[in-house]
Order: sequence, then structure tokens, then C-alpha cells
Amino acid sequence: MTAPRSVRAYLSIGSNLGDRLGHLQGAVTGLGAVAGITVVAVSPVFETDPVGPDQPDYLNAVVEVETILTPRALLGAAQAQEAAAARVRAQRWGPRTLDVDIVTFGDQVVDEPDLQVPHPRWAERDFVLAPLAALGHPAVTPRDWIGVRPTGLTLTL
Ligand code: ATP
Ligand code: CA
Ligand code: CA
Repeated sequence: MTAPRSVRAYLSIGSNLGDRLGHLQGAVTGLGAVAGITVVAVSPVFETDPVGPDQPDYLNAVVEVETILTPRALLGAAQAQEAAAARVRAQRWGPRTLDVDIVTFGDQVVDEPDLQVPHPRWAERDFVLAPLAALGHPAVTPRDWIGVRPTGLTLTL
């Protein structure tokens, strides 16, 4: 039997309610504890202007993983982290304890009603692009980011 082929994926994590840094760290630790996911790197933490309804600023980061999971199973793992942070969905793009999105999954494309990869809005979001650039994502060219501020805060693998 051959070993399952692993894929490099990038997940965007964000929080703007409660212990924002704690929620991000919980996501990193929780993803790393899932069988079939290895966390390879985590970007620095940025503070970012909210997109959508008026709400508190976010902390955002990007997690780089190596995984043998399918995109759908990785989505399940992402949503399990949101549930662990007791996320409540009240309003589209509204405030949340934790949001975990799959940004890219190798070079795979998924277009299903509940899962689109690459994430359809990632390229227009500086709060995703800035941490991706910090990790050296091959598809992102660094430039001046708007509404994104370095914090000096870091997350632990
Ligand atoms: P946005 O998708 O614009 O960032 P959001 O993150 O606030 O908005 P959510 O309410 O967290 O949206 O998610 C809505 C649904 O998006 C999820 O239930 C999930 O099925 C779907 N979805 C589709 N593609 C992805 C993806 N690449 N990563 C995470 N969720 C996705
Ligand atoms: Ca999102
Ligand atoms: Ca989401």
C-alpha cells in the first residue's frame, strides 16, 4: 500500500469576540491535534478592520498545514474548531469568536454548494493576504496592506 499523498493547505483564522488571541491559539492547537493534519507554520497575528457590519476589530492569522485529509474533511476539522470556540452565527459577516476558512488546498479546485476552494473572496481581503505574504505563500506578492496592522503577537505551533 502506498502512503496517502499529503497536500499543503492554508487556513485563515479570525476572531473579534472575547479572548481573541486565545481563540486563535485554540484553533492552531486544535487543528494540530486532528489526525491527518500537521501544522507546518503559523503567521504573525495582525489586527484588522472589520469587513461587513459595524463590529470590533479582528485578530487574524494564517495557518499552514500539511494534510492527508480531503478538502471536505479539512472543512469539518475547521468547523469543529469554531464549535469548540462556541461560535454563534447570528448575522452574515457578523462578529464571531472564531472563523476558520480554507484558503487554498494544494492546487485543487472545489466548487460545491457548501465548499469552494480556493476561497472565493481571499484575493480581495488584505486580512488574508497580509498573513499569507508573511508565510511566503507562492501566489501572494507583498505590497502595502490596507486596514491591517502588525501586533507583535505570535501563536505557538
Ligand atoms: P466568508 O465565506 O465570506 O469568509 P464567513 O466566513 O463569515 O464568510 P461562514 O458563516 O463562516 O461565512 O461560513 C458559511 C459557509 O461557508 C460554511 O458553512 C461553509 O460550508 C461555507 N464554505 C464554503 N467554502 C468554504 C471554505 N473554503 N472555507 C470555509 N467555509 C467554506
Ligand atoms: Ca470567513
Ligand atoms: Ca467561515
